[in-house]
Amino acid sequence: MFSAARAHEHPALRRVSLSPRIAAANRWLRAGRLPCHPTQMAGVGNPGPYRRGALLRPALPALRRLRRLARPGPRLRAFDPASTLELPSHPTPAAACPAIDAHTHLGRWLTPDSSWMAPDVGALLALMDASNLVALVNLDGRWGAELDENLQRYDHAHPDRFYTFCHLDWSLLDTTGGSGALVQSLERSAQQGARGLKVWKDLGLSVTAGGRRILPDDPALHPVWEAAGSLGIPVLVHTADPVAFFQPVGVRNERVEELTAHPSISLANEGVGMLGRLLDSFEAMVANHPGTTFIGAHVGCHVENLAAVSALLDRYANLYVDISGRAPELGRQPRAAARLIAAHPDRVLFGTDQLPIRADDYGVYFRLLETDDEYFSYAPGRTPPPHGRWQISGLALDGAILEQVYATNARRILRIAP
Ligand SMILES: [Zn+2]
Repeated sequence: MFSAARAHEHPALRRVSLSPRIAAANRWLRAGRLPCHPTQMAGVGNPGPYRRGALLRPALPALRRLRRLARPGPRLRAFDPASTLELPSHPTPAAACPAIDAHTHLGRWLTPDSSWMAPDVGALLALMDASNLVALVNLDGRWGAELDENLQRYDHAHPDRFYTFCHLDWSLLDTTGGSGALVQSLERSAQQGARGLKVWKDLGLSVTAGGRRILPDDPALHPVWEAAGSLGIPVLVHTADPVAFFQPVGVRNERVEELTAHPSISLANEGVGMLGRLLDSFEAMVANHPGTTFIGAHVGCHVENLAAVSALLDRYANLYVDISGRAPELGRQPRAAARLIAAHPDRVLFGTDQLPIRADDYGVYFRLLETDDEYFSYAPGRTPPPHGRWQISGLALDGAILEQVYATNARRILRIAP
């Protein structure tokens, strides 16, 4: 069961991370509007402590000058420290053994203009060859004609290199067919050639039916999860989001810069209690359908608590996790991460979740999994790093475990011949 981890109190962080908040407030001041909580900029509510800024507005220029006098030096947003550690470095441009990326986005539904996420399939295949990637799982199949387009462009045009998953149109829940219509859609997609079902975080956060919010373990969805089991296709589920997204956007939030730069991703208005409900609902779904294979995306959707993820893997033989999007998190707890994988080498899938795919990002994942390099960037060339100002260290997994994580486990779930 979920328990919210307490953030560490750190006086230095409290001091330096004021900058992005003040920058956001300044932007609002310049626009002649009342400063408020950054998450209000995207209309997601959660009024915060920034209202008091309205009273301070006339005095702000003088206060800023005073602050600079009291605390001279660069502000956090310009902070770009060069490490002085002299450490071994092992760039890893290709995987040590043939790899399957079980979490990629190659379709059209996530691009702003509905163009293909991978516009040049030939260039993508060349990148795959150079990186020792034998296949990619494309999670963007959607359904109907869009699924066919994805299958034609990837799976059928390049057999054994791409495996496309479908989605479900949750609005069917509100039609007379309800759950039955979803099951029919899933069966049709499997007949068309979908190799799995992808479930996104909108289930649990924004999907409603009959005026109520639908969580993953909602009884209306039981027939769907059972159908996936009968069809023999895995269900890859992204529930909730990082813990910090559910916390207030402030000096105690370790991702305050990311949340200030992208206010719409904050789920602070949901609260950490809702995160617990979503994770409990995810577990109930897995528990209620032992004949269905579930893949918990992003390290079981709870990378902040690897002990909890490990316990879930112990309890449910039908659960797998992918490591996509979580290199920064795994690499800042390398010993716990290596222990989790060593304890469940047959249940962890390699995946990256890049939008769009870049060779450099693969290099970070390979270096993370294969080397014992310490204190390196999870986002080379990007300042500030997108998720938080920390560095990562490698897990140094041994060869037999790497083979399982890179490909054997995915082959088993996807029923691909070795
Ligand atoms: Zn994804």
